[in-house]
Amino acid sequence: LLLGAVPYLLWRRVKQGRCHLSHAVSHELARAIRRHEFFIQYLPTMNHETGECIGAEALIRWRHPRQGIIMPDLFIPIAERTGMIVPMTQWLIEQLAVEMGGWLRAHPECYLSLNVSSAHFESKLFLRRAVQTLQRHGIAPDQITLEITERDLLDKSDESTRKALQLANQYGFKLAIDDFGTGYNNLARLYEFGFELIKIDRSLVRTAVDKQGGDRVFDAVLTVANGYGAPVLVEGVEQITDVAFLATRSIHSLQGWYFSRPVGAADFQQFHGRHSSP
Ligand code: C2E
Ligand code: CA
Ligand code: CA
Ligand code: CA
Repeated sequence: LLLGAVPYLLWRRVKQGRCHLSHAVSHELARAIRRHEFFIQYLPTMNHETGECIGAEALIRWRHPRQGIIMPDLFIPIAERTGMIVPMTQWLIEQLAVEMGGWLRAHPECYLSLNVSSAHFESKLFLRRAVQTLQRHGIAPDQITLEITERDLLDKSDESTRKALQLANQYGFKLAIDDFGTGYNNLARLYEFGFELIKIDRSLVRTAVDKQGGDRVFDAVLTVANGYGAPVLVEGVEQITDVAFLATRSIHSLQGWYFSRPVGAADFQQFHGRHSSP
């Protein structure tokens, strides 16, 4: 699919071996930032106990002039390999501050989360610029959670990761482990970092509800997750049967299509209005 996103002239250079494909796509991503082709959708986060909306996760999408809407799974990996992920996330924070700043200031009890990877932490400037952008819009970093995948955390050497996470903490950001339960098995290492949220991957909910014996796998992961002492969020709640399965379990918050698909800023704010006490 992304091949079609590459302009013809660049594509010819790729075919002639004069230029690498990821280079061509990275060129496209830079252009997309300049031309405002990205936009954000917000996936609501619900408190498990009260059923109220307590925030959202910001998810990026690419409105390509010829390809239509491209989902992040297709371009994030290339953006990460080429380093374009950092300017892309800078754009996302800027845009989030513009369209959600007022809402965040009006709802200090709520928070928004966004996805980062070790590439962001390798860039010293990234965190500092993020804080500056938020401050310019009167947003406190403690209303922003940075999600980093379990896999990404375990791939990196403890020392550099710990330093980067510490710095993020000092700036006031909250940190979340994303896709928990899908990484490697030396989870003990994660205990060393201070996380404020653990997000159990949606594949575990599907296993729990759809596969025989899957509930035991889910409960094993949930026990480990709760062992960190941080609140646990379960992703990918799609059906009433998922809600029923989770009802009696020790979980802080939920996300998934059962509550809402990812939506634009205005629709999210309306959704929050309907799902929170005045
Ligand atoms: P993720 O961080 O695990 O995000 C959750 C994904 O699950 C989102 O897909 C969301 O739309 C989808 N989802 C939520 N609830 C349900 C559900 O009930 N059922 C199903 N089937 N899916 C559900 P999306 O938006 O396509 O994002 C995919 C991945 O792309 C994300 O996984 C994240 O790793 C990455 N991503 C998205 N936006 C960004 C971004 O701004 N920066 C970075 N670095 N990565 C991003
Ligand atoms: Ca995420
Ligand atoms: Ca996830
Ligand atoms: Ca994921």
